[in-house]
Amino acid sequence: MRLQLKGKLKNEFVKKIEKLSGENLSKCYQCGRCSGGCPSAPFMDLLPNQVMRFAQIGSQKEVLGAKTVWLCASCFTCMVRCPKGVDLARVMEAIRQISLRQNVDYISPNKLPIEKRTELPLIALVSAFRKSTA
Ligand code: SF4
Ligand code: SF4
Repeated sequence: MRLQLKGKLKNEFVKKIEKLSGENLSKCYQCGRCSGGCPSAPFMDLLPNQVMRFAQIGSQKEVLGAKTVWLCASCFTCMVRCPKGVDLARVMEAIRQISLRQNVDYISPNKLPIEKRTELPLIALVSAFRKSTA
């Protein structure tokens, strides 16, 4: 069964993922080819196609609660294997962005002394700047 959610039927979470990723979630028809080739799948709590399904129906709790998006290596294997041309790595990145923007502000980059900025992981700084400019 193909899931087609349009207009008002799409909740805000679905629209946000689609806006940030540039992907149409409805294109996925759950063939599972992405999960079959994903090198990180054995370590994930939800398989990539399961993330897609929960994202399609706007299940924010399951999508944001899964470790899967943080284990995605953005290798693009899934995109190459997907018969519908879904760029799942972009979907995963969009979900990471939504998650990071919702969390508590642990650091405020503009308030950090210059010498401390070099001690932080780059991802922490990048996400903190993203949150301040979102
Ligand atoms: S981009 Fe992410 S989800 Fe896709 S195959 Fe690579 S690790 Fe798996
Ligand atoms: S390969 Fe594409 S169509 Fe198939 S489950 Fe994955 S994202 Fe959906």
